Amino acid sequence: MSNLLFEQAKPILQHIKSQGYEAYFVGGSVRDYLMNKDIHDIDITTSATPDEIESIFSKTIPIGKAHGTINVLYQDEAYEITTFRTEGDYDDHRRPNDVAFVRDLYEDVKRRDFTMNAIAMDENYHVIDYFHGQQDIAERIITTVGEASERFEEDALRIIRGLRFQAQLAFHIETNTYRAMQQQMSHISFLSIERIVVELKKLVQAQHVSVSFENMKQLKAFTYIPFFQQSNMDSITITEPISFNLFIAIIQVKQSTELSLAQLKISNQEKHTIHALSQLMSEIGELQSKATLKRIVYDYDMKLLLELVTHRTLLEANQIKLPSPLIFNKATLAETAKQLPIDTRKALAVTGKDLLAHLQQPSGPWMKDILRKIELAVIQGEVSNCKTEILEWVDNNV
Ligand code: ATP
Ligand code: MG
Repeated sequence: MSNLLFEQAKPILQHIKSQGYEAYFVGGSVRDYLMNKDIHDIDITTSATPDEIESIFSKTIPIGKAHGTINVLYQDEAYEITTFRTEGDYDDHRRPNDVAFVRDLYEDVKRRDFTMNAIAMDENYHVIDYFHGQQDIAERIITTVGEASERFEEDALRIIRGLRFQAQLAFHIETNTYRAMQQQMSHISFLSIERIVVELKKLVQAQHVSVSFENMKQLKAFTYIPFFQQSNMDSITITEPISFNLFIAIIQVKQSTELSLAQLKISNQEKHTIHALSQLMSEIGELQSKATLKRIVYDYDMKLLLELVTHRTLLEANQIKLPSPLIFNKATLAETAKQLPIDTRKALAVTGKDLLAHLQQPSGPWMKDILRKIELAVIQGEVSNCKTEILEWVDNNV
């Protein structure tokens, strides 16, 4: 257990209080601290309005000011300070129609999702727990603040968050809360895909993903999420934590029709990795020889190859075939990589320009083909990576 982050932020709470306002740590950091877990980032909640916070600190960034959040820079760290607020009515299952700043902590924690996330703590580690969050943590129960069906009706993301917390904490979802999840699940179709993906990423990477993934399926969550709704999610098993990219790649490989990643609104970098993983998985089952292994080690990022090695059991449970562990394992991969004469096309001793000059032909699509052939010949040791030898090889073989 580390309370270093709280200790670092203590002067901030003290400063706000010295100006006559209230201030507390709240949310995930307090929950994790009370569970003796490491905390990663801290949220501060205060009775001071955003304007008041700006006036009492010298370095501030009004990043989410409309929602009550000011970033305060203090000793090279940025702290999110959010004003106590209540939320107005919800009409669309995703966002309150309006938020109002209030001076009362109770009103602020009342709008939070789960009792374990609604605990406030002051700078002396004194806890204010209006909704018996500590008891629920002790009993390892996920339960909403107030009536579950009302809270999910307001913001359906809380359903997915609940399942995400189950995956991270291995808590039991309280019966009434689970039933409400079941009843309100269809409302997640009103959410933005970005918010869902944030939670799904945490869910699939969490230690206890297996239980909450089965719950996701049982509750038919995927039926209401773009991309997943076109996939046969019942045929997917996730028995151990994996990266979101591998998760999506597994789904893709198992579909007979191409699914559009655009629906997930993820970054190009992520799309690129998912494509590479899917392609790798569809190629690798065929791997029989050392030569193919060399080619695959050359063509793909080692990180991706190791990810497959690590998740052999999971992949096989999803009917994705890997080569025998005798030829496809960490050691053979490292050894193969070490023996490759080049690691990228850039390391090739000839360039396109050299080929143009040597062959005296106008540039064209043939160039890409020849470079690929040369590359493969060098990797397989048919020719050494030396300009004159390569050009001679081209004359004889292409
Ligand atoms: P993590 O450890 O992953 O950061 P967290 O509990 O801190 O988990 P955040 O998404 O960082 O989750 O949100 C901070 C706090 O804001 C939560 O603990 C909860 O009190 C509140 N909160 C976040 N999202 C919602 C929501 N959709 N509805 C109600 N309260 C929410
Ligand atoms: Mg947090």
